[in-house]
Amino acid sequence: MTPYELADSLQRGDRRALAKCITLVESTHPTHREPAAQLLELIMPHTGNSIRLGISGVPGVGKSTFIESFGNHVIDQGHRVAVLAVDPTSSVSGGSILGDKTRMETLSRNPNAYIRPSPAGKTLGGVTRRTRETLLLCEAAGFDVIFVETVGVGQSETAVAEMTDMFLLLLLPGGGDELQGIKRGIMELADLVLVNKSDGDQQAAAGRTVADYQMAMHFLHPRSRHWQARVQALSALKKQGVDEVWQTVEEYRELLGNAGEITSRRAAQACAWMWSETADALLTELKENKAVKALVKTLECDVIEGKIPPTIAARKLIDAFRQ
Ligand code: GDP
Repeated sequence: MTPYELADSLQRGDRRALAKCITLVESTHPTHREPAAQLLELIMPHTGNSIRLGISGVPGVGKSTFIESFGNHVIDQGHRVAVLAVDPTSSVSGGSILGDKTRMETLSRNPNAYIRPSPAGKTLGGVTRRTRETLLLCEAAGFDVIFVETVGVGQSETAVAEMTDMFLLLLLPGGGDELQGIKRGIMELADLVLVNKSDGDQQAAAGRTVADYQMAMHFLHPRSRHWQARVQALSALKKQGVDEVWQTVEEYRELLGNAGEITSRRAAQACAWMWSETADALLTELKENKAVKALVKTLECDVIEGKIPPTIAARKLIDAFRQ
């Protein structure tokens, strides 16, 4: 299929076309680069019509259970849900642990849902880029609520916050964020904190955790002038508090949307994306350059042995590239 045919089928909501499009943009094969770029250009005017939700939390906190309950709930309200994942560890383990279909069984069977595991990739940058492109493809295919999930470890949270409109952080009842392995920087990204597993004998503890975080969030620098981060209790398993989460998402979208902040955030994100693409592409070209290749080993050894400062070595590499 040509990029034109693919774009056409995609806009008609054809799921097989969506899978084909994603495979094309995820491909690292050099001959796929041009048609993938063409396809993305064709679909651009049909993107942007979704609410993009980032979601994080330590393994076991209930992310997939939540996405399943929440996803089915918003589908019942007439929406279409796509679930993507950024899991930079998947390239190490060889298989993605996120977005795994067996984790969201009823949602994955729902015709109005689309679940895609994390693309494999050597770098977080590579994984992030492909996920951004997949997000655009899902929008063009008519999905209007898009989740980008991340494992609660490392830098992928920031990457996900930088490609979404709203960042949701799931926590467990009891214990401070340090106990839960959440760094302050991650807390600051959160637009909505959800204390999950608020059921059974954990319910009281969840209530206390909500109160503690409501206090704590006031001391953090807010991400938006128009929004103070909220904290809510939830039981993803018992489906309690799920509708309240959707109401908060809608309120957020309305407030920030009216203030023009979603548009301005997306514009800034697109610009930052352009620059990181430029930096990545230049670096790849530099590393493939013959003159650079001839120098690299010696310079690396010199830097390791402390013979020359890294800044000077970097300058030499750039000079070699320029000539
Ligand atoms: P993830 O690793 O963050 O995706 O977590 P999962 O969604 O796989 O959930 C981990 C475990 O917690 C599973 O055994 C779930 O059944 C359980 N769990 C998830 N949400 C809730 C909840 O709201 N209440 C209770 N009691 N258990 C839950």
